[in-house]
Amino acid sequence: MSRKTIPQLGRPPGRSRHAPAHKAASVSRAGIQTRFQTREWPLAPPPDHCPALVLNADFRPLSYFPLSLWSWQEAVKAVFLERVNIVSHYDRVVRSPSFEVRLPSVISLKEFIPATRRPAFTRFNVFLRDRFTCQYCGRPFPTHDLTFDHVIPRSRGGRTTWENVITSCSACNLAKGDRLPHVCGMIPLSPPFQPTAYELQENGRAFPPNFLHESWRDFLYWDSELDPM
Ligand SMILES: [Zn+2]
Repeated sequence: MSRKTIPQLGRPPGRSRHAPAHKAASVSRAGIQTRFQTREWPLAPPPDHCPALVLNADFRPLSYFPLSLWSWQEAVKAVFLERVNIVSHYDRVVRSPSFEVRLPSVISLKEFIPATRRPAFTRFNVFLRDRFTCQYCGRPFPTHDLTFDHVIPRSRGGRTTWENVITSCSACNLAKGDRLPHVCGMIPLSPPFQPTAYELQENGRAFPPNFLHESWRDFLYWDSELDPM
């Protein structure tokens, strides 16, 4: 797999540094019951802007798209429960009366979670398989402008399966109506198929997230370069 350099993005929310994981080991397990108080730090982002990138035990993201992110609360809880290792930190600290903890920016699961061989047949995964592109007109759309279409209409015995459902824009969906592909001349650009989890992951890698903390870069090998924002 070729690994391309990801250019420096616009300012991430807050300074950040890679920090060795052992520095996080000072947190107490008892603290998990404690409600966190946050302390304002100059230049530090609010904790709600500090999601943790979640890696599998092989240090690859659990999911590329949507990118596997946990809230700081979920991440800190998982640290206390010793389910994850901290790979990198934000410069953001949250405090309770009994302890303080630096918020993790990257965590890795201690137990490897194997990808399911057969991804769930969901609307989102159909869009992801088809790269958010209408399979009739070939144009990409944001998800709210997409729908799905039965290649063989249900009224003609078509089933709702990976092999008969494709991503379609509303206009094409309307234009096709209840007709068969060869009757209306609307043939899908690629025949629908059951994707593997790997294929969906690979498609997801083509969609970089809106926000990318610099400590995440080492774990995200995007094929396309990101535009600074
Ligand atoms: Zn279309």
